[in-house]
Parts: sequence; C-alpha cells; structure tokens
Amino acid sequence: MIIIDGSEGEGGGQVLRYACALSLLTGEPFTIENIRGGREKPGLMRQHVTAIEAACVIGAAECSGLAVGSSSIVFRPGRVTPGDYHFAVGTAGSTGLVLQTILVPLMLAVAPSRIVIEGGTHAMAAPPFEFIERTLLPVINRMGPTVSTRLVRHGFFPRGGGRIEVEIDPAPLRAIACVERGALRRVGATAILAGIPFDVGERELKMAAKTLADWPPEAFVTRQLPAEQGPGNALLIEAEFDHVTEVMSAFGKIGIPAERLAKTAAGRMGGYLACEAFAGPYLQDQLLLPFAMAGGGVFSTVKPSQHTLTAAALIERFTGVRFAIAPREDGVIMVETAAR
Ligand code: AMP
Repeated sequence: MIIIDGSEGEGGGQVLRYACALSLLTGEPFTIENIRGGREKPGLMRQHVTAIEAACVIGAAECSGLAVGSSSIVFRPGRVTPGDYHFAVGTAGSTGLVLQTILVPLMLAVAPSRIVIEGGTHAMAAPPFEFIERTLLPVINRMGPTVSTRLVRHGFFPRGGGRIEVEIDPAPLRAIACVERGALRRVGATAILAGIPFDVGERELKMAAKTLADWPPEAFVTRQLPAEQGPGNALLIEAEFDHVTEVMSAFGKIGIPAERLAKTAAGRMGGYLACEAFAGPYLQDQLLLPFAMAGGGVFSTVKPSQHTLTAAALIERFTGVRFAIAPREDGVIMVETAAR
C-alpha cells in the first residue's frame, strides 16, 4: 500500500489522477490523505470524484472515502477492462482531466475502448480539447497506440454541458525521442465566443497580435458558436511545427479583462517560440506517464513545472522509473527516462 500526502509538491488534483492511473497500471493499492491540500479549497471536487469513479469503473477498483469534500481515499485496483464507457462530470469540471486519469491504462489494455465524457471542454487550469487533440495525442500516437478524439459540443465554466468522444486502440508503448520540433509550419489564434459579445474576441485578438507581432493578420480569427453552448469564451493560440503542435489557451472569466488573459496566453506562446524545446509547460507533465510506461525515451522542454516534478516523484514511487531532468548547454531542459 502506497501512502501519499496529497498536500506535498504541487498539492492539487493531478497527484490524485496520476495515482489512480499508476495504481491501475501497477496493481499497487494506495491511500491518499490531505487531498488537494495545497489548494485554496482542499478536498475532492465533483470533477475529481468523476475521475476516480471512472478509474474504478474501467479498472474494477474499490475506493473508500469517495465523496465531494472528502480529504482522503483508499484505492484498491482490479483488472482494467476495455469497452464502451460514458462518464459525466455534471459540472464544468474538465473532460480532459477525466481522460488524463484513464487514458494510459486503457491504451495499454487488451482491446479497444470508446469513451464519451461530458463536462467542461474549455475551462481554466485544465487542457482544452484542442490541446488534447493537437498537442498530446499526436505524441501518444507516435508511441504506438492509436487514440483519436472528437469534440461534439463545447462546455464552458460554469455551465458545462460539453461532450468529447475518444477512441482508443491499444498497443505496447515504444520509447521515442521528442527533442527537435522541426520547422514552423503554421500559426493561428482563435477567439471562441458562445453567447458573448463579438468585441470580446476582437479585443483578445488585438492584444495577442501585439505580442505575436510577426504573425500575419489572417492568423487571428474569431469563431462564434451557437449561443446555447455558452456563455463561454476561450482563446486558443497555436503553433504547428514539423514534429509538435503547441496550443496555449486562456478562458474568459467575469472580472478579468479580455486583454489581460490574451496577454498572458500570447506571452506564453512567445516564450515557447523563443526557445527550442519540444514540450511546452503543460505537455511536459502529461508526457511523463506514457514515457514511464514505455520504459525509456527522451523529450526536450521548458523549465520544469511543479506538476512535472510532483508527477515524476509519484511515478518513481509506483514504478521505480526515474526521470533525469537536466538542462542542455543552451538552457533547454532534457527529460530522460531512466530504465527500471
Ligand atoms: P491540477 O492543477 O493538479 O488539477 O492539474 C492540472 C493538469 O492540467 C496538469 O496536467 C496540467 O498540465 C494541465 N493543464 C492545466 N492548464 C493547461 C492548459 N492551459 N493547457 C494544457 N494543459 C493544461
């Protein structure tokens, strides 16, 4: 039984989700206390409960203490069974983070799965749909499995109501090298609006264009969704290279000026473009689990996030796989999976 202090390191929901995934992958039960102890409102939120429930369903796991507000659970994994599954967060809680919990166990299962997840698709502090589709899954697919996803309906905070479908065709994971991004092929910034005044998108794009001053004017577009999918607003800033696509995002929030959130997202993209790393600040923690299960591989990235350092430590506890994380001469960080 592995005992985890959920307030250590990054101290958020990711520890919990990766612990469930790692437990299903290794057969090792775990207890976690002080769940999300590093967050302002600690304990399980609806979206975490759904993620753990999803892990229980696909992995015949038993979990005690599972309720909104709970600060500790005991998780005992069973056998992962691929199939057709449907999970609904019931709030705008992230569909992508539910997927983060079950994706790797299902892509190493004995048969294909088809998953429908309902909830938020474009919400703060979580990967938006486009990041999963264009940034994460192409790397996963290079490792062996075939995972495809479809956005059926957008879901924004606070209403939710979004829907994604994911098809997972498993295969053993290959160790790969993701070091070079290759040449820049395409750039784009899209302001998505659902039931939000058009000028919000225009203000976001104007600010993004100021930071990304060498991007052509036609790279900045507004996309209006049916108002009934909102209210909601997301800004997606994308750079497609030969070997990787980075999607930086920001999500409209009452009280935060459109210019400010656009400046932050565009600044992040500017920072990524200015270095030579393959993985940006979010892809890095999301690559650790598949790389650990591949038992090898290397990727280059930007400065390691707390999420990355926390995930690496957790992965080592469950699997014994260590990551060597060290800067190259030019400052780019290399993350290398050491053999078990
Ligand atoms: P936590 O904050 O512990 O719930 O974990 C959040 C997870 O969502 C981590 O795996 C982050 O890499 C990921 N994440 C957060 N924000 C973004 C974003 N804007 N784009 C892509 N992934 C994100």
